[in-house]
Parts: sequence; C-alpha cells; structure tokens
Amino acid sequence: MFAVMSTSVNDPSHGFCRDCLAVQRGPAMRCTKCGSPRLMRHPELYALHIAHIDCDAFYAAVEKRDNPELKDKPVIIGGGKRGVVSTACYIARINGVRSAMPMFKALEACPQAVVISPNMEKYVRVGREVRSMMQALTPLVEPISIDEAFLDLAGTERLHGLPPALVLARFAQSVEKEIGITVSAGLSYCKFLAKVASDFRKPRGFSIIGEAEAVTFLAEQPVTLIWGVGKAFAATLESDGIRTIGQIQRMERGDLMRRYGTMGDRLYRLSRGQDTRRVEPDHDAKSVSAETTFDTDLASSADLVPILRALSEKVSTRLKKSGIAGRTVVLKLKTQDFKIRTRNRQLGDPTQLADRIFQTGMQLLAKETDGTKYRLLGIGVSDLTGVEKADPPDLIDVQSRKRALAEGAMDALRDKFGKTAVETGYTFGKGRNAHPREDVED
Ligand SMILES: [Mg+2]
Repeated sequence: MFAVMSTSVNDPSHGFCRDCLAVQRGPAMRCTKCGSPRLMRHPELYALHIAHIDCDAFYAAVEKRDNPELKDKPVIIGGGKRGVVSTACYIARINGVRSAMPMFKALEACPQAVVISPNMEKYVRVGREVRSMMQALTPLVEPISIDEAFLDLAGTERLHGLPPALVLARFAQSVEKEIGITVSAGLSYCKFLAKVASDFRKPRGFSIIGEAEAVTFLAEQPVTLIWGVGKAFAATLESDGIRTIGQIQRMERGDLMRRYGTMGDRLYRLSRGQDTRRVEPDHDAKSVSAETTFDTDLASSADLVPILRALSEKVSTRLKKSGIAGRTVVLKLKTQDFKIRTRNRQLGDPTQLADRIFQTGMQLLAKETDGTKYRLLGIGVSDLTGVEKADPPDLIDVQSRKRALAEGAMDALRDKFGKTAVETGYTFGKGRNAHPREDVED
C-alpha cells in the first residue's frame, strides 16, 4: 500500500535521478536536469523502507582508493597462509577471479593481476566510517559484516524530510564522495528481499523488489537464493527434483515441514516472500571470541601465552570496532583427545581492552597448564554491554591504567602502520602462529 504523503516527490508515478536526486515526472530515459541515465522508478519506490547496503569489492576498493595507479588494473586481495583470494576487484572478476579461489588459480586466470596482502586494520577503520554514516541515517542498523548491513529507514521521512529511497541514494553518493569507495543498495519490504536486491546489480547498484512483484520474481529464481539453503541442502532439494523457488511455491506447507522439518517452514514462507524478521541493532552475538587450532599440540605456557595474547588483541579489536564491551572473560581449551575445557571469570567492570582480557585469561590458563597437551586455544568475553561503563579509569589499578594508556597508543600506531607494526613482548618474533588467520570477507 502506498503511503499518502503531501510532497510531490512521493507520487508513485514519479521517480528520481540517482546522480542529481532531481524528481522525474514523465517517461524520459534520461534525467531532465542533468542528463544522467541512472533513473529510479518503481511503483513502490516510496512505500518501502527495509534496506540492505553492501560495499562493492570492499578490500580491493579501499586499496584502489589509496593508490590511484591501481585504478584500471585487476587487483586481488589475498595470499597469506591459506593462499586464497579474499576479494577481487571487478576487473579481476571479469577475468574469472572469484573470492575464496586458490591464489595460483586466480593468477592462471588473470596473470597480470596485482596481488596485495590484506590490511585488516585499515579495512576495519574504513568499515567503521561507513557504519557511522549509516548510523547517522537511522539507529536501526544491523551490521552483517565489516562492509554490509541492514537498515530500517521507516523513520527517515520524519528525520530527514526525505523518503527512504532518496535517503538511500543520497547515502550512496556521500560514501563515494566522503570515503572514496562505492556501495550497492537494495530496498524492499523485508530483509530477505532487500539483500537479494542489493546483490542484483553490483557495483554501484540500487535495486528495488516491491511487495506486488515478489512472488512472481521469486518463482524464477534458484532455491539457493533462499537464506539458509547452502550447498548440502540444495543437493537434498535437487535429489527431490526441486531446483526453483517456483516449485516450492506450489507445495503445501505441511508437506514441506514433513520433508524438511523447520527448514521446510522457512522454505514455505521465504518462497512466498514472507519474512517478518526485524532489523535488530542489538542482534550481535552473545559473546565475542577468537580461537585457533595449532599445527602441533602444545602444553607449555611458553607456547600458549603468546597465542593467548594475539587472540586477546583480536577479540579487543572486534569489541572496539563494534563499540561494545564484555564483563566475563571465557577461556576455552581443547585437549589432544578433543575434550573441551572452558573457564570463566567475571570482571568488576566490563572491558574491551586486550590487556585486561589477556591478564584474566592468563590467570585462568595458569591453572590449566599442568602438562596436558592442547590442540586449540580460544579466548573471549560474554555478558556484553555498551562501552559507557567499560574500563573506568579511576577504578582500575595504576598498573593496568598504564597498560590501558599504552594500549591506546599501540592501537593508534597499528591503525597508522598496520597490524604487525607494534608487537608486544608476548607476540614478538613468534611468527604466524601468534597472528591467527583472518576470515575471508566480502
Ligand atoms: Mg561487500
């Protein structure tokens, strides 16, 4: 249903220009003001408010921004221990390079590519800038990853005097101007289809899927488009002769649930474009942790402590990035024979400091280094809170206060010169094991 609004911009027969944002009346193919062909028109243009925003080839875009010589070259971010592609720019993608592809294959497909190893600190920083621009639009931002989030823009009409579609177009422009990378946006009435829409025309895409067209649109799509249908489940469906969402639309709910349990219910609803999940800003995990499995089992604190330190720093980076803190420190160990030991300690105040997480983890670890051989070590925090009450400077002792100050200085240096620019005594010279592998993002 169309909202009845007083400004002419909200007339559903009108559209707007994505470049100059001028209102378009009539059927012209180009903007009547600036001549751009990037026009938005859709019968539900001004009725939809659930958005999904995703940065385009994020890591590669940041590197291109910082080195203009790379602009027209195929760029691959990746390498490292696992030797896979984290992100390929669009020029590299045209040459057949894909995320998670082994690097040797990527270079077979695109020998002229420039390979850059990931600078996570930098991407986290840029991702945080994009995130805060989102949060200026609405408090209802649900981050999905470093460069991707759902936004509920229902309140923007009141807040910004513009309907959600225009707020979104203006946002994409500001990110280009102020941060120097591009995003793609999807707008719909639910999260499922907003995400599908943002994937539709990358890069610099802006797609809309309205309520009236949802079922018809979905009918022609493959089942893998449905959130939760991975490779294994798609194979199960395939063996039952189900390939398209249209086939699911013709099935009974009871039948789907008998065959596939709760997933059957999800198939039933999502295939019809029914998704009532809200955009939840506090959707975040109940805990933030990092863990690593060793190449060979380890028993001595000399071996374990540097790893604990590196993991504590990783947890702290994530907490700082998300603007949250945790009150309980959790140590996890997996023994040689796969038994899991977890040990907790509650702190007086929540923390996001690597050093407090590490020092508490050390106390917990001390009791477990009894000669047992471990294959995995993890550290994390739970009881998550906001940062307001975290690490009060007047309550922590002088020593830890000094360390907190030093940590702030180290963070600043790492931001400037990269992750390994500053090493603490615990991780210095300990090699790769002390720097847990990064996830493939984007
Ligand atoms: Mg992305």
